[in-house]
Amino acid sequence: MKVLKNISLKNLNTFGVDVKSKYFVEVYSEEELKQVLNSEEFPHQQKLILGSGSNILFTKDFDGLIIKNSISGIKLLDEDSNKVIVEAGAGVIWDELVKYCIDKNIGGIENLSYIPGMVGAAPIQNIGAYGQELEDTFYELNGIYVDNCETKNFNKSECSFSYRNSIFKNELKNKFVITSVRLKLNNNPDANFSYNPVKEEVEKRNIKHPTIKDIREIVIDIRKNKLPDPVEIGNAGSFFKNPVVAKEKFKVLEKEYPDLKYFFIDDYNIKIPAAWLIEKCGWKGKRIGDAGTHKMQPLVIVNYGNASGKEIYEISMMIKNDVKTSFEITLENEVNIL
Ligand SMILES: Cc1cc2nc3c(=O)[nH]c(=O)nc-3n(C[C@H](O)[C@H](O)[C@H](O)COP(=O)(O)OP(=O)(O)OC[C@H]3O[C@@H](n4cnc5c(N)ncnc54)[C@H](O)[C@@H]3O)c2cc1C
Repeated sequence: MKVLKNISLKNLNTFGVDVKSKYFVEVYSEEELKQVLNSEEFPHQQKLILGSGSNILFTKDFDGLIIKNSISGIKLLDEDSNKVIVEAGAGVIWDELVKYCIDKNIGGIENLSYIPGMVGAAPIQNIGAYGQELEDTFYELNGIYVDNCETKNFNKSECSFSYRNSIFKNELKNKFVITSVRLKLNNNPDANFSYNPVKEEVEKRNIKHPTIKDIREIVIDIRKNKLPDPVEIGNAGSFFKNPVVAKEKFKVLEKEYPDLKYFFIDDYNIKIPAAWLIEKCGWKGKRIGDAGTHKMQPLVIVNYGNASGKEIYEISMMIKNDVKTSFEITLENEVNIL
């Protein structure tokens, strides 16, 4: 294991922000991780666990130790004719896990195809897209506490999953390292195409009985058309969560804005697309220097060139202020700010 000093993180975050980390180490096993956490070299250094940096905005140099989790391996555990438990190391690329499952006709995560990042980060914000969330198939995970190196297994209810949220994004933020994740998946999968854009595409392609492989292909095509590729233009996907408002507030908004977009969560709560609010405030495709919003998808803040993390953060604050002033709605960050 080699500890690097003062390294640039430019290629380790999808915003492509050029900041430095005081120390950096990559671990490939639980033993190596424990060795680093127990090491006398870093007891007082703040520590950050990094996957592929697709949900992080570095606003300054990191004055501590970054541990890149590269624990690999995919295994099929318990299996019967209906269900199979699949275990993956935290350092497996999420989409490689999805592809591995689909190649074996194991279903349940195909709608989550092509989400960037590592398996170990998937539970952090309960990744979700196109009508599926990680919690729908989550079984359990293993990990290690940063402070005392104790191992712990979390079952689903202990993870406190909710919309783009979990215990690991709150009480346990930077305190617990996920080392492996187990999912309970289907050996006799049914394709889920209830989500409108997927359904429309199934119909357009005239697929009578879509398979999970069809769904993966459709989701990948939709994503490639809709979202900027971080390799070409720095970004971390949706910068903000979609806000949820109470029915009374929704009624006021609906009256004022007949073109308001929304989804009913239940009888009392309504989700408003953050992209709609941001666009209404005139932020679609707006750019200040090298930081701005994407021209097609204003919810995605992008680095058009050499924007600093601070500049990107400032844009996010301007957007938040404008949405608050115009709609009395507070946007919450989906991206982790450092
Ligand atoms: C183009 C694009 C599209 C996206 N689309 C979606 C989408 O549709 N749905 C969605 O939910 N997300 C989406 N995202 C966000 C992102 O892909 C996910 O949040 C992903 O799970 C982040 O994985 P990562 O490995 O890059 O995590 P990182 O960005 O490296 O880390 C994210 C957070 O998790 C922590 N962390 C990482 N690994 C571990 C670990 N092993 N143990 C403990 N803590 C850890 C980090 O400290 C950090 O706080 C998108 C991002 C991009 C760039």
